[in-house]
Amino acid sequence: MQDKCSFCGRSRSEVELLIAGMDGFICDQCAHQANDIVNEEMKSKSSLNLDHIEIKKPLEIKTFLDQYVIGQDDAKKHIAVAVYNHYKRLLQKEDTEGVEIEKSNIIMVGRTGTGKTLLARSIAKMLHVPFTIVDATVLTEAGYVGEDIESILTRLLQAADYDVAAAEKGIVFIDELDKIARKGDNPSITRDVSGEGVQQGLLKLLEGSVVNVPPQGGRKHPDQKMIPVNTKNILFICGGAFDGIERKIAMRLNTQVVGFNASKAKEKIDRDNFLQYITPQDLKSFGLIPEIIGRLPILTYLEPLDRTALRNILTEPKNAIIRQYVKLFELDGIHLKFEEEVYEYIVDKAIEFKLGARGLRSICEAIMTDLMFEAPSQDRKNITITKAYAEEKLSKLNSQTLRA
Ligand code: ADP
Repeated sequence: MQDKCSFCGRSRSEVELLIAGMDGFICDQCAHQANDIVNEEMKSKSSLNLDHIEIKKPLEIKTFLDQYVIGQDDAKKHIAVAVYNHYKRLLQKEDTEGVEIEKSNIIMVGRTGTGKTLLARSIAKMLHVPFTIVDATVLTEAGYVGEDIESILTRLLQAADYDVAAAEKGIVFIDELDKIARKGDNPSITRDVSGEGVQQGLLKLLEGSVVNVPPQGGRKHPDQKMIPVNTKNILFICGGAFDGIERKIAMRLNTQVVGFNASKAKEKIDRDNFLQYITPQDLKSFGLIPEIIGRLPILTYLEPLDRTALRNILTEPKNAIIRQYVKLFELDGIHLKFEEEVYEYIVDKAIEFKLGARGLRSICEAIMTDLMFEAPSQDRKNITITKAYAEEKLSKLNSQTLRA
């Protein structure tokens, strides 16, 4: 008897390929179709079921973030509301009187080391949807060295274990968005590989469209099978330092404040923190295209960290640096203590070296390394770090060796 596909009945001569099974055959076309059916089925059986999870209210989300991030109330509030609304939108049943809740992507502007990434990482701890952090610096326009814009979604797919339906409900944090700002006012003079072209690509993702994602990321190549992902429900949170934007804000404020009440209005401006006055217009003058800005309707800022904030960052967060050292020593059976003035000293140094919160860790490492090396081999049960000890350890270093 002639070999035939057990599904469609076509004989070997009628098909490209006939694969043999235990007691039957399948042809190439039926195999393809079966694959599609499997994908469809898996999609509807996505592991992500939000019906049974308890969704935290915005206030609870903020309280949760407070455990990890000091200050930054404005950014926390916006993120809490956006995440809460994201869940509500996902749970929305089809057609509630035609009102469709649209997503509100967020953009956070704040100096480096003020907690943007930390906020993103902290929110990830409490999410029930796939989440990923990607860095915009690696993105370049298609055809150039670097990663294609679609690779952003590759990471999300990986975070969702390639469950496309789950990824389509995920949240993506894009760090260093300012790095894809247009460099000059006239983009036609030199190719702006990582500028406007990338923004156009990103726009596609933000707007909500079906994007073909290379499953392994990196560059697309012709033989790779793409996975279509719909970005309609993916929430994007972007962050960037936007170095120099404060000058643009200051300039705008100065030119705006003219006329009768000018001097009075000017007085009210808090000159230490121009970011709080940021508007979409400032992002545009920095080099983001208006379409992108339009797709990031929630604009929030992070405060520069003052003395008190730095001091609190040392000891208050759940996984504060000092707590980590205490824990490390505790695992060796050693009770580690810091004198209060050591904290003040560390903060002083961080400010002096202009290292911000990122510097706190390097300074602590400089103080603690010798002890971490010696203590486990010694028979000490109690160690107290005094200011004199900290000074001695730090005096051997200068600000160049302390990496931010
Ligand atoms: P950014 O992304 O804004 O450049 P990060 O979030 O990476 O800054 O912050 C760098 C480090 O500084 C964090 O890992 C954290 O230890 C500390 N830090 C910065 N800001 C805060 C904050 N507001 N609260 C607690 N820790 C902070």
